[in-house]
Amino acid sequence: MSFNDMNHSLRVLLVEDNADDAELLVLELETSGYQVTHQQVDTAIALRRALQAQSWDLILVDYSMPSFNALEALELVKEYELDIPFIIVSGSIGEETAVKAMKAGVHDYILKGKLARLLPAIARELKDCQVRQERHQALKRVERLAFYDDLTDLPNRTLFLECLQECIKQSRHTSELFAVFVLDMDRYQSLKYGFGHEKGHQFLQEVARRLESCLLPYDSVARIGEDSFALLLRHLPNSNEAEQRSGYVWQVLHLPFVLNDSLIRSSASVGIVDRTIGYDRAQDFLRAADVACHNAKRQGVGQTVLFDARMQTEELDRLQLEADLQQAIQFKQFQLYYQPIVCLKTNRTTGFEALIRWQHPTKGWVSPAEFIPLAEQTGLISAIGQWVLTEACSQLERWQDQLECFLPLSLAVNLSGIQLTQPELVDEIEHLCRCFDLNKVQLKLEITESVLMKNAKLAIAVLDQLQQNQVPICIDDFGTGYSSLAYLHRLPIDILKIDQLFINRMLEDEKNHSIVRTIITLADTLGLEVVAEGVETQAQLEALRSLNCDYAQGYLLSRPMPAVAVADWLQDFSKDTFVRQIA
Ligand code: C2E
Ligand code: MG
Ligand code: MG
Repeated sequence: MSFNDMNHSLRVLLVEDNADDAELLVLELETSGYQVTHQQVDTAIALRRALQAQSWDLILVDYSMPSFNALEALELVKEYELDIPFIIVSGSIGEETAVKAMKAGVHDYILKGKLARLLPAIARELKDCQVRQERHQALKRVERLAFYDDLTDLPNRTLFLECLQECIKQSRHTSELFAVFVLDMDRYQSLKYGFGHEKGHQFLQEVARRLESCLLPYDSVARIGEDSFALLLRHLPNSNEAEQRSGYVWQVLHLPFVLNDSLIRSSASVGIVDRTIGYDRAQDFLRAADVACHNAKRQGVGQTVLFDARMQTEELDRLQLEADLQQAIQFKQFQLYYQPIVCLKTNRTTGFEALIRWQHPTKGWVSPAEFIPLAEQTGLISAIGQWVLTEACSQLERWQDQLECFLPLSLAVNLSGIQLTQPELVDEIEHLCRCFDLNKVQLKLEITESVLMKNAKLAIAVLDQLQQNQVPICIDDFGTGYSSLAYLHRLPIDILKIDQLFINRMLEDEKNHSIVRTIITLADTLGLEVVAEGVETQAQLEALRSLNCDYAQGYLLSRPMPAVAVADWLQDFSKDTFVRQIA
């Protein structure tokens, strides 16, 4: 109610034993424009009932009644934690008593004979009360913002950490077993960008409600990041319980969500840590569960991982490696090695594959299998990929001059999935070939089968353009990425590279042998060239030759070598004796 409204209604509680006096007060208020509803009480019990029955805007109190008095009434109002203007309207009570009453919390004291002061006092007290209430509301809101998430109404990270700290403290005396989960919603980002922010928010609100439904008394849930939540599960009966409960959470989140009239399935990556880890600080528990969740995410979608102390060290190592990787280009720590690819029909080296090497200042050589995935996760792959392409093209140009008698030579460069999604890739390759005066058929691009299948639509569009520009495209590690063989003819590709896994075991395992044979026959039907990679023995080479495989690459021919070794290797290889040995 606003005291400024004319003719505003006023709910007045009259604590008064004299009905005439009460009537007089009501009349006074009504005459000055208030629409008064009132109740008269003169005992503690009646006052209690009235306070419980409804809310009041004003309490006018006689100082003393036969079985009750104003100070007792005031205590009762305080007991209910009500902030209502409380004004004594009474005969003379003496200055000392009046001061005592004001000190106790009475807002004003009006003499019954001097009612002219009543209305201004009421107006003033109603206004003060409104200001107090608004301030109180604002404080409550600030407090809520500090401890609760506005979107889901769940506690936020700060409040969660407080609850967790309290739980840790209590568990020291009770040996209570508890567990902390950190959950990260796997598909939130694509939902947000696909359906828009509003639907994304609805999704998070629904996740919050579902997580609340997984709680038992004493458990809590909080939203701790854009799409991440934390659960604190308390009083677990045994150490297996946390994992079992995570199975239940998984089921609840796996039920479809209705967004935009569509049924959407989602999953969460979950990291779990339980009390046995023995940390003292809530932040350490939460960080451990976060690290485990990160680990789960790296393993794919919908995974659950229990924290183990080694993960922290691995995470730190990875962070360090990431920081080092940032500097590797700047400090020229990368190098390209080249592994020859030999034609099995002519025994001629037709080209090389460029393979990146990182000479880490303290760790020595770091394998691309270790740092390329990290570079992809951090986006550094764009800069690295660009460096590889430029370096490979410049090397190919040098070979044009230096290795005249071994020409033509091609160079295969590995591309990551992220490079394939960059629209400028086609122009960049065009530009490089022009700068280094290369024929585009000399530069071959290798894309692993799994990358191609993951981003099929986008990748095919980019590869189509590259192929139209005469850049040969090769599917790397073929046979491991689940692409259906029947799908192959629709892909813009020129070369299949059979994964070394099959070559490695083709002589011991008939199944692998027949896979290699099927791939070679199929490639032949589709007019694709076939390279066998990972050829390590003479017997494997002979078997491939008898299956009519076009090219071979592997340690039998040569390990990847630095550019300076290439000319000598080509010389040696072309010598009759060596050719005879592999022929
Ligand atoms: P990949 O493209 O399939 O390269 C073949 C890998 O097999 C190379 O490992 C090579 O050294 C190894 N290899 C060759 N012959 C044999 C053999 O006879 N036996 C065995 N056991 N291994 C053999 P490397 O150089 O460690 O590269 C690993 C992977 O890292 C590559 O697999 C490729 O996917 C990726 N990679 C390497 N360089 C680059 C690059 O410049 N850019 C990108 N995006 N990825 C790269
Ligand atoms: Mg490759
Ligand atoms: Mg490969």
